[in-house]
Amino acid sequence: MGINKEMNDLIKGIVINSIDYKENDAIITILTSEYGKVALYVKGYKKITSKNVYATQLFDYSSFLFDYNPNKSIQILKSANLLKQFSNIKTDYEKIAVASVICEIANAVEDNIYDLIFEALTKLNDTEQSYLVLNVYLVMMLNLLGISPYVDGCVNCGKTNNIESISIKEGGFICSYCNIEFNDERFDIDFLKNFRIINKASFEVFDKLLTLNLNNFKLTDILIQILINYSGIYLKSYQSLINLNS
Ligand SMILES: [Zn+2]
Repeated sequence: MGINKEMNDLIKGIVINSIDYKENDAIITILTSEYGKVALYVKGYKKITSKNVYATQLFDYSSFLFDYNPNKSIQILKSANLLKQFSNIKTDYEKIAVASVICEIANAVEDNIYDLIFEALTKLNDTEQSYLVLNVYLVMMLNLLGISPYVDGCVNCGKTNNIESISIKEGGFICSYCNIEFNDERFDIDFLKNFRIINKASFEVFDKLLTLNLNNFKLTDILIQILINYSGIYLKSYQSLINLNS
């Protein structure tokens, strides 16, 4: 966790995971800029009378007060104060499902992606194009993990013409000649173009992406399958998104 100084001051963080514990308690994981992931024990988590209840829910951006104990992997929360609630996420079932995938990935990776997750949740809260936000986030994660798909030609032979498919297993475009062997699903040229564009995207150019046709769950599905296949991350929350789109 990399915590090695006194932390009996306020630490800002985003709640990315929550596990119920005993009857009324929970262990939450917050992602912080300074210390990465920090696990906090929240007493009375499920009691509506708890003073911390409005600052420790999933996706909350809050300040947390706790005494750091270097001998413990879980710290005891003293108090929490809500700094920003992503209220448009919390009131939209689809956005909740997207945010859950975003947070589960952040919780699974070693890298501290505090800035990236803050940007992703802010964009998710402020735009209607939920899958575009998730697609950009997934592409930036694949890039960070060094497992981006190859989209500048056929991943198998290198040819740049007659691209007709995307192979999860091979990790990129497949041309019609190679696909005689692979027999992967064929896509139309517009979809393949969009898959290439999204794989070059980042939140820096997000406003330009809004006018393109990239708010597409099929793009999400391929990117997530590549992430799962190459990183080994198991995404429990992804089933909710599949259910919403089936
Ligand atoms: Zn080929």
